[in-house]
Amino acid sequence: MSGSVAASQLGAQPVGEVAEVAEGVYQLKLPVPLPLRFVSVYLVRGGDGWTLIDAGYDYPPTYEAWEAGARAVGCDLTRDVARIVVTHFHPDHLGAARQLAQLSGAPVSMLEDEIPHARGVWETGPGPERFVGSLVRHGMDRSLAEKAAAGTRANLSLPEELHPLRPGEELPLGDGSASVIHAPGHADYQLVLHDEERSILYAADHVLLKITPNIGLWPESVPHPLARYLGSLETLRDLGVDLVLPGHGPVFHDLDGRIDELAAHHAERLDAMHALLRDGPKTPYTVSTEVFRGDLTLYEQCFALAETLAHLEQLSLQHRAERLENGTVTYSVT
Ligand SMILES: [Zn+2]
Repeated sequence: MSGSVAASQLGAQPVGEVAEVAEGVYQLKLPVPLPLRFVSVYLVRGGDGWTLIDAGYDYPPTYEAWEAGARAVGCDLTRDVARIVVTHFHPDHLGAARQLAQLSGAPVSMLEDEIPHARGVWETGPGPERFVGSLVRHGMDRSLAEKAAAGTRANLSLPEELHPLRPGEELPLGDGSASVIHAPGHADYQLVLHDEERSILYAADHVLLKITPNIGLWPESVPHPLARYLGSLETLRDLGVDLVLPGHGPVFHDLDGRIDELAAHHAERLDAMHALLRDGPKTPYTVSTEVFRGDLTLYEQCFALAETLAHLEQLSLQHRAERLENGTVTYSVT
């Protein structure tokens, strides 16, 4: 989707490098072996040490970029880190937390409900059968679904200790603080940080520019992710933010403008899916192939299906579509 909100001049450095985006706040772009290319993590200098926001993907290029990036800004990872905050359980944000915690000795925090959730997904997960079953039930071929599950990362070593943050809590950040905001939708228990005094929002994957955050319904998701996402976006209006530091893509300034664009994008997509169902009942997988055209990798097809399911569920919440399950799930217009 192309919108009119412009990218900032800040944070324009190449992947692997670090740049100052506000006084004492540095953005480091870590490479990721995913179509997104990089995840942006933040290093915030404070009187009691550095706060690191997000850790990156667990593979060697992450650790090389951390070493070089931290050194470039005068942060000794073995000595100077006060705390590590992870915004959500996805492997490009949480993956490297264990090694970073071991290296720095700093405590790692996540939103309180994200801790058992992340452990459930990565340490005691239900295995690939549940994922395959869900893909098949929603219309994907079994052979394709099995291939998709086999290519998906299934476990991750998490830090031994994870410290809970509560929504509304004030977290020391830099020489001030930021409030912890629960921002569901992209991940059920994602957090964003609002530094009110400096008018900065550390937006994680909740509000991105150029790309729309993936809002998907996965086997482990809380129901109605799109409704919760849109509701959460509305609560971020009028915060008076003038710098948005996201987890992917460009830094930008116009938060309310971007919220308008994202809300419009999902309204359009809901209408498009509703229109497709007028031809007759369809499986979510069929709808996903009609909405997300082009040559998608299997990995992208799974994200397209999860995103389609989130929208179809929203249509049924709006009483515009009806879900029928008879071995396979189909949706039809009401
Ligand atoms: Zn994510």
